[in-house]
Order: sequence, then C-alpha cells, then structure tokens
Amino acid sequence: IVQLIDVHKSFGSFEVLKGVSFDVKKGEVICIIGPSGSGKSTLIRCINALVPVSSGTIRVENIEVADPKLDKLALRRKVGMVFQQYNLFPHKTALQNVMMAPIHVLGQDKREVEERARDLLKKVRLSGKEGSYPGELSGGQQQRVAIARSLAMRPDVMLFDEVTAALDPETVKEVLVTIRELAEEGMTCLLVTHEMNFARDIADHIYFTDRGVIVEHGPPATFFTAASDPRTREFLSQVL
Ligand code: ATP
Ligand code: MG
Repeated sequence: IVQLIDVHKSFGSFEVLKGVSFDVKKGEVICIIGPSGSGKSTLIRCINALVPVSSGTIRVENIEVADPKLDKLALRRKVGMVFQQYNLFPHKTALQNVMMAPIHVLGQDKREVEERARDLLKKVRLSGKEGSYPGELSGGQQQRVAIARSLAMRPDVMLFDEVTAALDPETVKEVLVTIRELAEEGMTCLLVTHEMNFARDIADHIYFTDRGVIVEHGPPATFFTAASDPRTREFLSQVL
C-alpha cells in the first residue's frame, strides 16, 4: 500500500535521506526507530508530501507522491498523520476539531459528519469530552482528539511521528492503547517511536535508520535479539 524506492532528500547540500526503500503492505504495522537526526521525521513527511523528495519514488496505493502534478487532496484522504505536537485548533471544541476537515475540505454533510465525529471520539475513549476545548484536555486527551481528527478523513494509512514523545508517562499509555486498537482493527500504520516495548509488541516489521539509511530491519523477534549491525546494537543497548 506504501512503497518507497531509493528515496533521497537533501536540504541544501545536506543529504538527510540517502536512498531509502521499503514496502508496507495493507494492514501492516511498521515501526521506524533510530537516533535523533537520522531522518525519521523527514522520511515520514515525504510520504504525505509535506516535504518534497529530491529523487526516488514514493507510491501510496496508485498515487505517485513525487509527481509534480500530485493531487494533494487525494493523497491527504488516503494518508492520515499525527505529530508530536497535536496542533488542535484552540478555539474549537474536541468535536469541532474532528468535524472540520470532512466539512471544510470534503464538503460532507454536517449532520453525518457530526455523528461520525462522535463515534470517533468514543473510539478514542473521549466520550463526554466532545464540548471540551483543547486547553481543558490533558496532553494524552488532546493527542487522541488529533488521532480522531485524522481518522475522520477515513485514511487507508496512518503515519505517527513520535506522538507520545511530549506526554507524561501516565498519558503515554492511553495513546498507545488507542494506536494498538487501530492496528488490531487492521489499519495500516507507520510509526516513528522511541517506545521500544511498544514497537516490539505491535510491529510486524522494524526499520532502524541511521544517518539517512536503513541499516537494519526485521520482525521484532529477530530485530531485538539478533541485530547484526554494530550501530543498531549500540543503539539498542542504550535504549533497552
Ligand atoms: P528526531 O529523533 O530528533 O525527531 P529525526 O530522525 O526525526 O530526529 P529529522 O527531523 O528527519 O530527524 O531531521 C534529519 C536532519 O535533517 C536533521 O539534521 C535536521 O536538522 C535536518 N532537517 C530537517 N528538516 C529540515 C529543513 N526543513 N531544513 C533543513 N534541515 C532540515
Ligand atoms: Mg523526528
């Protein structure tokens, strides 16, 4: 469902991605881990065209992301993204935040959108918080509103970039539970995460990036126990 072939990305003369290739099949959960500055966020931003690639191919289903004539709206309907910063609209309630894109971007019927938005808030376990403003919600609750807001576009793939990194430990868990439930329902997920236990638990496949290349990858069982690359082993010895 997502395919990357030899993706390169430079900012000026600095090459952040140096030829990244991988495939994600429908329903798979992929975790990307690696040291700070290794290009994980850049990689994930390339997939939904927030950052243009310098060369290489990215496909999401039948959409060529690097095509200069890319229909960004079509891509955004297929790919949902959640960031470390939730970026909710502060003057809109949780419910209004979830409803905005389907109404204003897709022009859908308000009553149907509202019904679905309520269902989505229930799904992320925020029933009762529909009328709360972001400032009245905890970080974990805001992040779950952000997830519901992405789901409102009915994406086929969800991208998560360190969505728990800014949260305190108690709220990390509730967000991870939401992501786990999504994954179990068959949502295709690409996650950048520092939560190694979560990655081990949830991922079908783990990619370790360092300085713009994938240096090691595999299913969690072999990745965590039998990494052969020295940089991967060093990283794992520090975080596990
Ligand atoms: P972290 O774990 O800290 O989030 P990361 O693996 O997500 O790191 P990226 O955010 O992808 O790393 O950044 C990779 C490198 O690219 C960094 O050295 C960063 O400074 C650089 N970089 C990222 N975005 C830009 C930009 N818009 N312009 C210039 N350099 C950038
Ligand atoms: Mg990052």
